Amino acid sequence: MAIRNIVKEGDPVLTKICRPVEKFDEKLATLLDDMYETMINGNGVGIAAPQVGILRRIFVIDIGEGRMDFVNPKIIKTKGRQESSEGCLSCPGEFGITERPMYVVVTAQNRYGDQYTLNAEGLLAKAVCHENDHLDGILFKEHIIRKIDPNELKK
Ligand code: ZN
Repeated sequence: MAIRNIVKEGDPVLTKICRPVEKFDEKLATLLDDMYETMINGNGVGIAAPQVGILRRIFVIDIGEGRMDFVNPKIIKTKGRQESSEGCLSCPGEFGITERPMYVVVTAQNRYGDQYTLNAEGLLAKAVCHENDHLDGILFKEHIIRKIDPNELKK
């Protein structure tokens, strides 16, 4: 595994629409492993492929309950709403209160191409929405309803 460079806000790669993954090969496995290591190294709970400069529909999440790989994900259902603090590895030092669904149902493939369905709630639902947005060139800032001072989070 290797830590990759995280693309920061302002780089046009973060505004592009990602293409689906077609090949489930060793290269994909390496990318997923590298993304995971890069995310852990940056103290993030999720990371999407465009954040390491790859325009493919891939993200990895670990909210402390284990690693989850999402390849070609699709959010098929959302329900409820939550307001909570959010940040992004590509926007260091910037945080805001966002509005997101409380529940999402997402389908995706794993590194081998096997399809699965996940029912996500709370923080996991928020992470899925945040990372899925990256695949369509959308940053979390578009969902901010109130900005917060980073010091406020440390209290
Ligand atoms: Zn992000």
